[in-house]
Amino acid sequence: MSRKPIFAANWKMNKGASETEDFIKSFLSKTQGLNLPADIVIAPPFISLPKLATLLHESNPVDNAHAIQIAAQNCSQFDSGAYTGEVSVMMLREFYVHYVILGHSERRAIFGETDAIINAKIKKARETNLKPIFCIGETLEEREAGKLEEVLRTQITEGLKDISEKDLSDIVIAYEPVWAIGTGVTASSEQAQDAHAFVRSVIADLYGTDPAAKIRIQYGGSVKPANAAELMACPDIDGALIGGAALEPQSFIEIIKNGTPV
Ligand code: PEP
Repeated sequence: MSRKPIFAANWKMNKGASETEDFIKSFLSKTQGLNLPADIVIAPPFISLPKLATLLHESNPVDNAHAIQIAAQNCSQFDSGAYTGEVSVMMLREFYVHYVILGHSERRAIFGETDAIINAKIKKARETNLKPIFCIGETLEEREAGKLEEVLRTQITEGLKDISEKDLSDIVIAYEPVWAIGTGVTASSEQAQDAHAFVRSVIADLYGTDPAAKIRIQYGGSVKPANAAELMACPDIDGALIGGAALEPQSFIEIIKNGTPV
């Protein structure tokens, strides 16, 4: 089963509109004429989405074979109303947002998002055809306590509760061990492959072997140009969700190039 790799830059709370412009101009000029056989996604802060949408709309996707797709870093599980500080899926669609990162460990740990909230957000995203990048992953304590599989199974089962097979086909899973995010410590390719194979087996239990074979599972956690090739060579790893190393255009490009050998 061949799955197109997907590389997504999660800028977190970095890059306002002017830094977004600098990045995109540089990224587009450096990738002109390159063959990068992967989906490329950028998730800026909400405030930079209009600038990103305008810049990408102005760039000619015919000249630029690998048009970038836009992701949001979060969305509300509600449609509209008295939810101070929140952003709805309909608002995101106005800025050509195609993906939304949901369940990131920072949202879970710092902002108290539960599996039930993440499930509600996934459902809301699918109502407007937004494609969730659904993040799961264990803490170091959970891994060391032998709870890796239990944690991942619960996050997947609860996060995807009542999600149809059709909607699953537009979901990307990001396996991100919490201990590897922003720490410089990467899971070994063996640890990552084992976890990815387990995630795929849980999807097979829930939806059957065909959807499990089709779903794309990204690895996330201190991916860099130097470790991208080894990680992406694993049979169940289909791209990466990248934080720190995707803040510089050249570094993001090197990860994509190294992770998608032609
Ligand atoms: C992330 O934020 O999803 C992430 C993987 O960050 P980093 O690449 O910096 O570890």
